[in-house]
Amino acid sequence: MKLFLKLVIKKKFKVQDIWYRFEWQSRGSDHIHGFLWIDDAPSVTDLDQYLSFWGVRVTAFNLAGELPAAAVHPSSRPFSERTNTLRELTELLNRFQRHTRCTPSYCQRKIRGTDELTCRFHFPRSERPLPEVPCEVNSNHRVYLPARNDALLNSYNATVTMGWMANTDLSPCTDQTAVVHYLAKYCSKAEKKSEPFKSLLQSVMLRVSDRAPLLSLAIKLMNKLIAERDWSAQEVCHHLLQLDLRSSSRAVQDLDLRPIENQRRALDLQNGHATVSKTFLEHYCERPAHQEHLTLLAAAREYTWINKTQDFRPRRDRPKVINLFPRYSGRSSHADYPNFCRAKLMLHHCFRSVTLDDLLNDDDEDWVSAYAACAANHDHSRDPLGAVLEAVEADSETESL
Ligand SMILES: [Zn+2]
Ligand SMILES: [Zn+2]
Repeated sequence: MKLFLKLVIKKKFKVQDIWYRFEWQSRGSDHIHGFLWIDDAPSVTDLDQYLSFWGVRVTAFNLAGELPAAAVHPSSRPFSERTNTLRELTELLNRFQRHTRCTPSYCQRKIRGTDELTCRFHFPRSERPLPEVPCEVNSNHRVYLPARNDALLNSYNATVTMGWMANTDLSPCTDQTAVVHYLAKYCSKAEKKSEPFKSLLQSVMLRVSDRAPLLSLAIKLMNKLIAERDWSAQEVCHHLLQLDLRSSSRAVQDLDLRPIENQRRALDLQNGHATVSKTFLEHYCERPAHQEHLTLLAAAREYTWINKTQDFRPRRDRPKVINLFPRYSGRSSHADYPNFCRAKLMLHHCFRSVTLDDLLNDDDEDWVSAYAACAANHDHSRDPLGAVLEAVEADSETESL
């Protein structure tokens, strides 16, 4: 995957950022879900530019559709016999990029209220001479539909197909909602287990040998797991080789904004000794004097804590992506609002005390009034908590609910 990114994807596209994760389809063959952020890709708001950019890069045109099946699987040809011709591209497409068989176990689902079956990937798809981004296909966002002369072909990019030599599915994103939908639908989904452990265990119990029951049980259960494809050989090898399950071009920093007494701590196990590690908040409060004016947000985004020197070292790489939690509500009528105000002050105002005493000016001040003064007088950088939602907006929203 790393070589493919370096030698094919990054040469083909101006990749700004990348994220991907491994998955094992029906716990069988490897499968990768990913996102590419492309530097020069136009926004869908400029429709003509968007269509001319993607129209030549993602298509469902089978340029020389009618070809006899290649004698040797085109993906197994040695490198020296590769021709990089249109014929070869078509052979590859015909071999793995077409959705030629709809079956109930794979893609067919009943249409609600009827006995009729339909393909959940919407094959066969209508042909169209030019790409389009209609609003009607999905009620939440526009969908890119490539130019198509083959009702069964998955959209493809010729370079990607010839480089990867296995099935791919490329969808140019249209907007933020489309990205969120893709993330929720495909990227964060866990694989289904084929059969519960309990029933697998019961089925092998009967055949356990009397001489070494525990060993026999373990071996039989392991074999059963492989046979039932809960873990395929590919997945097991991936883990044994200690390969990453996901990868991205940006580092992520978790940032817990709960009061210190509610924060979870990691246990560090080394040479048989367990030590409780400090939280990011504690490191921040213990920063050396020359980093007095560093805010928590800047420390999390632009610095790395170095245990050896007990200070924050500026990152040479791009800022980290902040995974901030809890996401307190910024609605002023919400019960969480004082916490939202406290979190805002923690992010943007410097402090030293883990109990946050020094963030309030005097004993009478509470988080809401302290943040009101901050919002009226300061212009802080953007943060993942976002802006305060106005009371008017909150009220009308409650009404509509
Ligand atoms: Zn189908
Ligand atoms: Zn402020």
